Amino acid sequence: MADFHANPGELRNAYLDALGVKQWRLREANEAQADSLLQPPDGLVPAQEHDRDLSSQATVSEAREYLVDAEKVSTLDLAELQLYVRGCQACDLHKTRKQTVFGNGHHKADWLIIGEAPGADEDRQGEPFVGRAGQLLTQMLRAIGLAREEVFITNVLKCRPPNNRDPNMTEITACQTYLYRQIELLEPKIILVLGRIAAQSLLNSDIPIGKMRGQLYHLEKYAIPLVVTYHPAYLLRSPTEKRKVWEDLKLARQQMVTQE
Ligand code: URA
Repeated sequence: MADFHANPGELRNAYLDALGVKQWRLREANEAQADSLLQPPDGLVPAQEHDRDLSSQATVSEAREYLVDAEKVSTLDLAELQLYVRGCQACDLHKTRKQTVFGNGHHKADWLIIGEAPGADEDRQGEPFVGRAGQLLTQMLRAIGLAREEVFITNVLKCRPPNNRDPNMTEITACQTYLYRQIELLEPKIILVLGRIAAQSLLNSDIPIGKMRGQLYHLEKYAIPLVVTYHPAYLLRSPTEKRKVWEDLKLARQQMVTQE
């Protein structure tokens, strides 16, 4: 991190190289000009339009209340919440997890990063995004000038689904109470959502991620700007999509700049 601040331009190029975003070099001579080239996204979604989707979650809320003591959770601070999650048995994942993965990072972070669920490495270490996808996430963040310690990283699910299968609705619903409490407590200025599962569950949508990304959303309840992008695990399999992720990262960063 110290090196990064000592020579941000050079290191950023190295990170962008690692991400495979080579075109950046064309603009490196004038960073300010590059920033000014950031255009508002074509498909900017006004908050009201999005609210319609999120307000139709009656069954999800009911299920959540049933599975997790939402009232109790709403009284917990971050440390208490982490302990509470550690003892959670609201769904069957508690039977197969090694440990819960609550998330980590700065408690006053401007950026909240939300992934899908812990994998084998995360389940073993109790930390989010520590495997190969995590390394790529670190590079993605560095590309926009952020160190991991500056952001808060968590997942929709706090427990690993066996064999890395997709989370199911019961699991997502149970865990949403924890995620929303984290959002309330952290009060981030921007949320970056990684991958289809996280995006669809947070935005209560079944739109494919390729159509969801590239736009600005607002999380209804908290009026927090939210940007969706591809999951780093997907990027490891489809490196040609890195350019789109770079566009999404710039969109999120631009949103932060306009708030300052
Ligand atoms: N993938 C995720 O979505 N989250 C992690 O923590 C690790 C891999």
